[in-house]
Amino acid sequence: MRCIFCKRVSDNSRSYEHIIPESLGNKEHMLPPGVVCDNCNNYFSRELEKPLLEADYFNQARFRWDILNKKGTVPRVRGIHFDSGMEIEISKTSNGLSVNTYRESDEKKFIDTLLHKEQGKLIIPIGRNSNKYLFSRFLGKVALEALALRVLDVPNGLDDVVNKIELDEIRNFVRQGNIQKSSWPFSERIIYPENAIFEENQTEFYVLHEFTFLYTEKNELYLILAIFGIEYAINLGGPVIEGYSQWLDQQKGRSPLYS
Ligand SMILES: [Zn+2]
Repeated sequence: MRCIFCKRVSDNSRSYEHIIPESLGNKEHMLPPGVVCDNCNNYFSRELEKPLLEADYFNQARFRWDILNKKGTVPRVRGIHFDSGMEIEISKTSNGLSVNTYRESDEKKFIDTLLHKEQGKLIIPIGRNSNKYLFSRFLGKVALEALALRVLDVPNGLDDVVNKIELDEIRNFVRQGNIQKSSWPFSERIIYPENAIFEENQTEFYVLHEFTFLYTEKNELYLILAIFGIEYAINLGGPVIEGYSQWLDQQKGRSPLYS
């Protein structure tokens, strides 16, 4: 068995690879050991997923949606106590929300300020998904892994993914990045509100993430991924996204996830 990213022999690897991180609520989409070797698996969680998940954008979404991390807790969000200018942290407890100072040394001053004021303001700056370089590498990782998941039961399917030279550019971009830290262009748009309620067989539910592939008549292969209502598309064949905009125009904007 060989790893779909570094192509090294991966027979001795032991880790399951989550296509979407567990900390974004994924419990079903994963790859058996060796499809992604332990080395690459560790690299991705350390260099791509950890910084993305800890950035305000995903951290705040996990807070809003009560998505538990591996330790079984909801992450805290950072903010500012407007009146004292102190950095604060909000956490969810069984009794509701709890506010404390980010630095322990600020605590006394913070409490004094609260005791001398009748009201005040807490500000939580809205997190933006602004690191396009890191995020596009993450999208590329999801794309190759979702492809591997698709062909898992196809004879020689995984070998084809490893051997396909057309996939080498995105493979290397995901695993090694580039010196200029320039991102792989991708499409990003809202397709439904993150709190949209879906219904199937008389059961109502929220969608945290979903994905599919689009293969256009120009023989371009795209991963279409939605996380919290935002649809992302990335081209597995090269760092160009124009083909997807053209395809969307032809389809009057309808997402491949719902066509
Ligand atoms: Zn590897």
